Amino acid sequence: MPDLRNFNTFAGNTLDRSGNIRKNTDWISSQVKHPNAKFLPMLNLMAPIQTKDNSFCIKYLNFNHISDYKISINNLIFLGLKDEEPYFAFDISDIDINNEKLFNGIIFQEVRKAAMCLSNEDSSILAQARSMINWKLNNNFCPRCGNSTKSFHGGHVEICSDINCNNEIFPRTDPVVIMLVFNKGNCVVGRQSNFPKNFFSVLAGFVEPGESIESAVNREVFEEIAIKVKNIVYHSSQPWPYPSSLMIGCIAEAENTNIVIDEEEIVEAKWVERELILSALKKAKLSKGDPLEKTIVDNSEKLLLPPPIAIAHHLLKYWAENPRFFL
Ligand SMILES: [Zn+2]
Repeated sequence: MPDLRNFNTFAGNTLDRSGNIRKNTDWISSQVKHPNAKFLPMLNLMAPIQTKDNSFCIKYLNFNHISDYKISINNLIFLGLKDEEPYFAFDISDIDINNEKLFNGIIFQEVRKAAMCLSNEDSSILAQARSMINWKLNNNFCPRCGNSTKSFHGGHVEICSDINCNNEIFPRTDPVVIMLVFNKGNCVVGRQSNFPKNFFSVLAGFVEPGESIESAVNREVFEEIAIKVKNIVYHSSQPWPYPSSLMIGCIAEAENTNIVIDEEEIVEAKWVERELILSALKKAKLSKGDPLEKTIVDNSEKLLLPPPIAIAHHLLKYWAENPRFFL
Protein backbone atom coordinates (compact mmCIF):
# COMPACT_ATOMS: atom_id res chain seq x y z
CA MET A 1 0.00 0.00 0.00
CA PRO A 2 1.51 3.39 -0.94
CA ASP A 3 2.55 5.81 1.77
CA LEU A 4 -0.35 8.25 2.00
CA ARG A 5 0.38 9.65 5.44
CA ASN A 6 1.20 13.11 4.16
CA PHE A 7 -2.27 13.36 2.66
CA ASN A 8 -3.80 13.49 6.10
CA THR A 9 -4.34 16.93 7.58
CA PHE A 10 -2.63 17.31 11.00
CA ALA A 11 -0.26 14.41 10.16
CA GLY A 12 2.56 16.55 8.76
CA ASN A 13 4.33 17.72 11.92
CA THR A 14 8.07 17.94 11.21
CA LEU A 15 9.16 19.50 14.52
CA ASP A 16 11.88 17.60 16.36
CA ARG A 17 10.16 17.04 19.71
CA SER A 18 13.52 16.47 21.43
CA GLY A 19 11.96 14.07 23.92
CA ASN A 20 15.16 13.46 25.85
CA ILE A 21 16.68 16.90 26.16
CA ARG A 22 13.38 18.65 26.95
CA LYS A 23 13.53 16.96 30.37
CA ASN A 24 16.42 19.30 31.20
CA THR A 25 14.94 22.42 32.83
CA ASP A 26 18.07 24.51 32.18
CA TRP A 27 17.96 23.61 28.50
CA ILE A 28 14.28 24.61 28.25
CA SER A 29 15.10 27.94 29.96
CA SER A 30 17.86 28.60 27.44
CA GLN A 31 15.52 27.78 24.54
CA VAL A 32 12.92 30.26 25.80
CA LYS A 33 15.56 32.99 25.46
CA HIS A 34 16.71 31.84 22.03
CA PRO A 35 16.70 34.93 19.75
CA ASN A 36 14.58 33.13 17.14
CA ALA A 37 12.24 31.31 19.53
CA LYS A 38 8.66 31.22 18.28
CA PHE A 39 5.71 31.47 20.65
CA LEU A 40 2.21 30.39 19.70
CA PRO A 41 -0.55 31.97 21.84
CA MET A 42 -3.83 30.05 21.93
CA LEU A 43 -7.04 31.85 22.88
CA ASN A 44 -9.79 29.47 24.03
CA LEU A 45 -7.99 26.79 21.98
CA MET A 46 -8.13 28.98 18.88
CA ALA A 47 -4.97 29.72 16.91
CA PRO A 48 -3.47 33.02 15.71
CA ILE A 49 -3.23 33.26 11.93
CA GLN A 50 -2.09 35.92 9.53
CA THR A 51 -1.88 36.50 5.80
CA LYS A 52 1.51 36.51 4.15
CA ASP A 53 2.21 36.65 0.41
CA ASN A 54 -1.46 35.98 -0.37
CA SER A 55 -1.61 32.87 1.78
CA PHE A 56 -2.26 32.10 5.44
CA CYS A 57 0.25 31.06 8.09
CA ILE A 58 0.58 30.93 11.88
CA LYS A 59 1.20 34.25 13.63
CA TYR A 60 4.03 33.57 16.07
CA LEU A 61 5.19 35.97 18.76
CA ASN A 62 8.81 36.55 19.79
CA PHE A 63 10.29 36.68 23.28
CA ASN A 64 9.78 40.45 23.59
CA HIS A 65 6.10 40.05 22.79
CA ILE A 66 5.45 37.32 25.32
CA SER A 67 6.89 39.35 28.18
CA ASP A 68 3.84 41.60 27.69
CA TYR A 69 1.60 38.61 28.41
CA LYS A 70 3.37 37.96 31.75
CA ILE A 71 3.55 34.24 31.05
CA SER A 72 5.45 32.04 33.52
CA ILE A 73 7.91 29.60 31.99
CA ASN A 74 5.90 26.86 33.71
CA ASN A 75 2.99 27.69 31.45
CA LEU A 76 4.96 27.32 28.23
CA ILE A 77 4.69 24.06 26.32
CA PHE A 78 7.74 23.15 24.28
CA LEU A 79 6.55 21.84 20.91
CA GLY A 80 9.91 21.10 19.32
CA LEU A 81 12.77 22.38 17.20
CA LYS A 82 12.97 23.23 13.54
CA ASP A 83 16.26 24.36 12.04
CA GLU A 84 17.45 24.60 15.67
CA GLU A 85 14.79 27.21 16.44
CA PRO A 86 12.48 26.34 19.36
CA TYR A 87 8.67 26.48 19.15
CA PHE A 88 6.48 26.98 22.22
CA ALA A 89 2.72 27.23 22.79
CA PHE A 90 0.89 28.89 25.67
CA ASP A 91 -2.66 29.63 26.73
CA ILE A 92 -3.89 33.23 26.89
CA SER A 93 -7.56 32.57 27.62
CA ASP A 94 -7.37 34.46 30.94
CA ILE A 95 -6.05 37.63 29.33
CA ASP A 96 -8.34 40.59 28.67
CA ILE A 97 -9.13 40.47 24.95
CA ASN A 98 -9.87 44.20 25.01
CA ASN A 99 -6.19 44.88 25.62
CA GLU A 100 -5.32 46.30 22.22
CA LYS A 101 -1.59 46.18 22.86
CA LEU A 102 -1.74 42.39 23.15
CA PHE A 103 -4.40 41.58 20.61
CA ASN A 104 -4.05 44.26 17.98
CA GLY A 105 -3.97 42.73 14.52
CA ILE A 106 -4.10 39.08 15.61
CA ILE A 107 -6.90 36.95 14.17
CA PHE A 108 -7.76 33.85 16.18
CA GLN A 109 -9.34 30.99 14.32
CA GLU A 110 -10.70 27.61 15.29
CA VAL A 111 -7.99 25.02 14.45
CA ARG A 112 -10.14 22.83 12.19
CA LYS A 113 -11.20 25.86 10.20
CA ALA A 114 -7.67 27.28 10.05
CA ALA A 115 -6.42 23.93 8.73
CA MET A 116 -8.45 24.40 5.58
CA CYS A 117 -6.16 27.19 4.44
CA LEU A 118 -2.84 26.62 6.19
CA SER A 119 0.00 24.40 5.00
CA ASN A 120 -0.25 20.89 6.42
CA GLU A 121 2.89 21.57 8.43
CA ASP A 122 1.34 24.62 10.12
CA SER A 123 -1.95 22.75 10.68
CA SER A 124 -0.06 19.89 12.29
CA ILE A 125 1.74 22.22 14.69
CA LEU A 126 -1.64 23.69 15.66
CA ALA A 127 -3.01 20.20 16.29
CA GLN A 128 -0.13 19.44 18.64
CA ALA A 129 -0.53 22.79 20.42
CA ARG A 130 -4.31 22.47 20.77
CA SER A 131 -4.17 18.97 22.22
CA MET A 132 -1.35 19.83 24.62
CA ILE A 133 -2.94 23.04 25.90
CA ASN A 134 -6.32 21.38 26.34
CA TRP A 135 -4.65 18.59 28.32
CA LYS A 136 -2.70 21.05 30.47
CA LEU A 137 -5.81 23.13 31.24
CA ASN A 138 -7.56 19.98 32.46
CA ASN A 139 -4.72 18.73 34.63
CA ASN A 140 -3.96 21.58 37.00
CA PHE A 141 -4.89 19.34 39.91
CA CYS A 142 -3.81 15.83 40.79
CA PRO A 143 -6.55 13.26 40.05
CA ARG A 144 -5.23 11.08 42.89
CA CYS A 145 -5.12 13.54 45.81
CA GLY A 146 -6.51 16.86 44.55
CA ASN A 147 -3.40 18.97 45.18
CA SER A 148 -2.12 21.33 42.50
CA THR A 149 0.30 20.08 39.84
CA LYS A 150 3.42 21.63 38.35
CA SER A 151 4.81 21.32 34.81
CA PHE A 152 8.09 19.63 33.94
CA HIS A 153 9.79 18.38 30.78
CA GLY A 154 8.84 21.48 28.82
CA GLY A 155 5.18 21.02 29.74
CA HIS A 156 5.00 17.33 28.80
CA VAL A 157 4.36 16.04 32.30
CA GLU A 158 2.43 17.46 35.27
CA ILE A 159 3.66 16.33 38.68
CA CYS A 160 1.64 16.56 41.90
CA SER A 161 2.98 19.24 44.26
CA ASP A 162 2.43 16.97 47.30
CA ILE A 163 5.77 15.19 47.75
CA ASN A 164 4.05 12.26 49.44
CA CYS A 165 1.93 11.74 46.34
CA ASN A 166 4.33 12.73 43.54
CA ASN A 167 1.83 11.51 40.95
CA GLU A 168 2.98 12.01 37.35
CA ILE A 169 0.34 12.83 34.73
CA PHE A 170 1.25 12.46 31.07
CA PRO A 171 -0.68 13.71 28.01
CA ARG A 172 -3.08 11.10 26.70
CA THR A 173 -3.97 10.15 23.15
CA ASP A 174 -7.23 8.34 22.48
CA PRO A 175 -7.13 5.82 19.59
CA VAL A 176 -10.13 5.75 17.26
CA VAL A 177 -10.62 3.22 14.47
CA ILE A 178 -12.15 4.64 11.30
CA MET A 179 -12.86 2.12 8.59
CA LEU A 180 -14.07 1.79 5.07
CA VAL A 181 -16.10 -1.42 4.68
CA PHE A 182 -16.48 -2.76 1.15
CA ASN A 183 -18.05 -5.63 -0.70
CA LYS A 184 -17.01 -6.02 -4.34
CA GLY A 185 -17.74 -2.64 -6.02
CA ASN A 186 -19.69 -1.10 -3.14
CA CYS A 187 -18.79 0.42 0.20
CA VAL A 188 -20.72 1.38 3.33
CA VAL A 189 -21.40 4.98 4.28
CA GLY A 190 -23.29 6.03 7.39
CA ARG A 191 -24.96 9.15 8.70
CA GLN A 192 -25.14 10.39 12.28
CA SER A 193 -28.05 12.48 13.50
CA ASN A 194 -25.88 15.60 13.77
CA PHE A 195 -24.64 15.40 10.16
CA PRO A 196 -26.06 17.82 7.56
CA LYS A 197 -28.73 16.50 5.21
CA ASN A 198 -27.37 13.96 2.69
CA PHE A 199 -23.94 13.98 4.38
CA PHE A 200 -22.41 10.54 4.91
CA SER A 201 -19.04 9.26 6.10
CA VAL A 202 -17.34 5.98 6.91
CA LEU A 203 -17.84 4.27 10.27
CA ALA A 204 -15.68 5.04 13.31
CA GLY A 205 -15.41 4.39 17.03
CA PHE A 206 -13.06 4.48 20.02
CA VAL A 207 -10.72 1.60 20.70
CA GLU A 208 -11.48 0.23 24.17
CA PRO A 209 -8.89 -0.70 26.82
CA GLY A 210 -7.37 -4.11 26.18
CA GLU A 211 -8.59 -4.17 22.59
CA SER A 212 -6.51 -4.53 19.40
CA ILE A 213 -7.13 -2.33 16.37
CA GLU A 214 -8.48 -5.33 14.44
CA SER A 215 -10.85 -6.28 17.26
CA ALA A 216 -12.09 -2.70 17.51
CA VAL A 217 -12.81 -2.62 13.75
CA ASN A 218 -14.70 -5.91 13.99
CA ARG A 219 -16.67 -4.82 17.04
CA GLU A 220 -17.55 -1.30 15.86
CA VAL A 221 -18.73 -2.41 12.41
CA PHE A 222 -20.84 -5.20 13.86
CA GLU A 223 -22.31 -2.95 16.58
CA GLU A 224 -23.21 -0.17 14.15
CA ILE A 225 -24.48 -2.07 11.10
CA ALA A 226 -24.47 -5.83 11.97
CA ILE A 227 -21.90 -6.60 9.28
CA LYS A 228 -19.02 -9.02 9.91
CA VAL A 229 -15.70 -8.06 8.32
CA LYS A 230 -12.46 -9.83 7.33
CA ASN A 231 -9.13 -8.97 5.68
CA ILE A 232 -8.66 -5.78 7.73
CA VAL A 233 -5.74 -3.68 6.47
CA TYR A 234 -4.22 -0.52 7.87
CA HIS A 235 -4.28 2.53 5.57
CA SER A 236 -2.93 5.60 7.41
CA SER A 237 -3.46 7.61 10.59
CA GLN A 238 -4.42 11.14 11.52
CA PRO A 239 -3.99 13.07 14.77
CA TRP A 240 -7.35 14.71 15.51
CA PRO A 241 -7.06 17.44 18.15
CA TYR A 242 -10.66 17.24 19.47
CA PRO A 243 -9.43 16.90 22.07
CA SER A 244 -6.67 14.40 21.50
CA SER A 245 -7.55 11.45 19.28
CA LEU A 246 -5.51 9.42 16.86
CA MET A 247 -7.66 8.28 13.95
CA ILE A 248 -6.45 4.87 12.73
CA GLY A 249 -7.68 4.41 9.17
CA CYS A 250 -8.45 0.85 8.04
CA ILE A 251 -10.12 -0.89 5.12
CA ALA A 252 -12.08 -4.10 5.69
CA GLU A 253 -14.03 -6.53 3.52
CA ALA A 254 -17.61 -7.36 4.46
CA GLU A 255 -18.62 -11.01 4.88
CA ASN A 256 -22.34 -10.26 4.63
CA THR A 257 -24.28 -7.37 3.10
CA ASN A 258 -27.54 -7.07 5.03
CA ILE A 259 -27.23 -3.82 7.02
CA VAL A 260 -29.09 -3.51 10.33
CA ILE A 261 -28.26 -0.18 11.97
CA ASP A 262 -27.87 0.58 15.65
CA GLU A 263 -30.20 3.58 15.86
CA GLU A 264 -28.42 5.00 18.90
CA GLU A 265 -25.19 5.40 16.92
CA ILE A 266 -26.32 6.25 13.39
CA VAL A 267 -29.56 7.19 11.67
CA GLU A 268 -28.80 5.70 8.26
CA ALA A 269 -26.24 3.44 6.56
CA LYS A 270 -26.17 2.16 3.02
CA TRP A 271 -24.10 0.53 0.30
CA VAL A 272 -22.88 2.95 -2.36
CA GLU A 273 -21.24 1.92 -5.62
CA ARG A 274 -17.74 3.02 -6.55
CA GLU A 275 -18.74 5.40 -9.36
CA LEU A 276 -21.02 7.44 -7.11
CA ILE A 277 -18.28 7.67 -4.45
CA LEU A 278 -15.83 8.97 -7.07
CA SER A 279 -18.21 11.65 -8.33
CA ALA A 280 -19.21 12.72 -4.79
CA LEU A 281 -15.55 12.99 -3.72
CA LYS A 282 -14.86 15.43 -6.54
CA LYS A 283 -17.48 17.75 -5.06
CA ALA A 284 -16.36 17.25 -1.45
CA LYS A 285 -14.47 20.52 -1.35
CA LEU A 286 -15.07 23.76 0.46
CA SER A 287 -16.15 26.93 -1.25
CA LYS A 288 -12.81 28.69 -0.72
CA GLY A 289 -9.53 28.16 1.06
CA ASP A 290 -10.33 31.08 3.32
CA PRO A 291 -10.85 30.34 7.04
CA LEU A 292 -12.98 33.42 7.47
CA GLU A 293 -15.53 32.21 4.93
CA LYS A 294 -18.36 29.99 6.03
CA THR A 295 -18.48 26.47 4.68
CA ILE A 296 -21.08 26.18 1.95
CA VAL A 297 -22.89 22.87 1.83
CA ASP A 298 -25.02 22.21 -1.22
CA ASN A 299 -27.84 20.10 0.16
CA SER A 300 -29.21 19.42 -3.31
CA GLU A 301 -26.53 16.77 -3.87
CA LYS A 302 -27.72 13.22 -3.21
CA LEU A 303 -24.50 12.17 -1.53
CA LEU A 304 -22.20 14.56 0.34
CA LEU A 305 -18.88 13.14 1.54
CA PRO A 306 -16.22 14.50 3.95
CA PRO A 307 -13.73 17.08 2.58
CA PRO A 308 -10.00 16.33 2.23
CA ILE A 309 -9.31 17.55 5.79
CA ALA A 310 -10.84 14.27 7.04
CA ILE A 311 -9.08 10.91 6.84
CA ALA A 312 -12.47 9.48 5.81
CA HIS A 313 -12.08 11.33 2.49
CA HIS A 314 -8.76 9.60 1.82
CA LEU A 315 -10.02 6.16 2.81
CA LEU A 316 -12.91 6.54 0.37
CA LYS A 317 -10.64 7.95 -2.33
CA TYR A 318 -8.06 5.21 -1.99
CA TRP A 319 -10.66 2.45 -2.19
CA ALA A 320 -12.58 4.09 -5.04
CA GLU A 321 -9.50 4.84 -7.17
CA ASN A 322 -7.85 1.44 -6.73
CA PRO A 323 -10.40 -1.25 -7.60
CA ARG A 324 -7.62 -3.70 -8.48
CA PHE A 325 -6.57 -3.82 -4.80
CA PHE A 326 -10.08 -4.60 -3.58
CA LEU A 327 -11.59 -7.32 -5.73
ZN1 LIG B 1 -1.35 14.00 44.18
